[in-house]
Amino acid sequence: MIVLSGGTGTPKLLMGLKEIADFSVVVNTAEDIWISGNKICPDIDSVIYALAGIIDEEKWWGIRGDTFRTSEMLKNLGFEELMKVGDLDRATHILRSELLRNGLSLVQATKAVARAYGVSHEVFPMCNEDVATTIVTPRGEMHFQEFWVKEKGLPEVLDIYFRGIERARIPEEVRKLLKDDDEILIGPSNPITSILPILSVEDFRNRIRGKKVIAVSPIIGDSPVSGPAGKFMKAKGYEVSPLGVLRVYGDLISALVVDERDSGLVSEKIFATKTIMRDKDDAIRLSEYILKLFDRL
Ligand code: GDP
Repeated sequence: MIVLSGGTGTPKLLMGLKEIADFSVVVNTAEDIWISGNKICPDIDSVIYALAGIIDEEKWWGIRGDTFRTSEMLKNLGFEELMKVGDLDRATHILRSELLRNGLSLVQATKAVARAYGVSHEVFPMCNEDVATTIVTPRGEMHFQEFWVKEKGLPEVLDIYFRGIERARIPEEVRKLLKDDDEILIGPSNPITSILPILSVEDFRNRIRGKKVIAVSPIIGDSPVSGPAGKFMKAKGYEVSPLGVLRVYGDLISALVVDERDSGLVSEKIFATKTIMRDKDDAIRLSEYILKLFDRL
């Protein structure tokens, strides 16, 4: 099974899935950003920390019990970083960036970082090239992190695009996975800014067409469980609902798993179960449901 992942929702699911299934993960990198000389890959880090069992389960980013002393000291010295970076978390970014500076690709650096954390599942960036999710607002264009972290997601969103996506290539290792594996799971991550970038790398979409593709809705009722997915879906002209998610993915998916609260939507292609993951048991239960659904497709 290949899992397509952003942050938050999918790493939550992976905490359960890793207990009962084998899989590889292809992760969004369009929110990556260089901070204080090091490359931060927020979604890759969350996936690795979740698989390593050290993710901060309150925030769903960073390392459990981390401190922010370096970040605070920098602030005292008059330099405020765009994102709050934990002290332990920063070690990951330094390791990754040193490997990149030594000439490794992002695929190779990610493999090394995952191995260093004892992660046995394969984790791949969606591409080696730089892609930047850019938010168009009435005040101009901004990087996703500037919009979400600095501006707190407040500006009106006129459009969203992925700068550099036309130069992005599917890594050789991911190409091979896509050739060999027929089950694709699109986790409950932001459809617009986490999953669409992955699907937009070259002909990724065509390479999964015809396979068994299950998506889990990150939208319950008329809002996301967390984050700006609703605002972005609206900006792109989609209704903020599981049906809107279905429309984003269109004929690419074989089944959409929605929350039991949306069981009124159940149809040939829509299946309902409890999709809110409060703990690992919830994630295992949802994973079991998904595995059974793959068998039925
Ligand atoms: P961002 O936070 O919107 O930038 O994007 P992410 O790719 O990190 O994904 C966050 C998505 O995960 C949001 O759209 C949430 O609705 C979804 N999410 C978080 N927790 C859960 C959960 O327990 N269940 C479900 N179904 N979705 C979740």
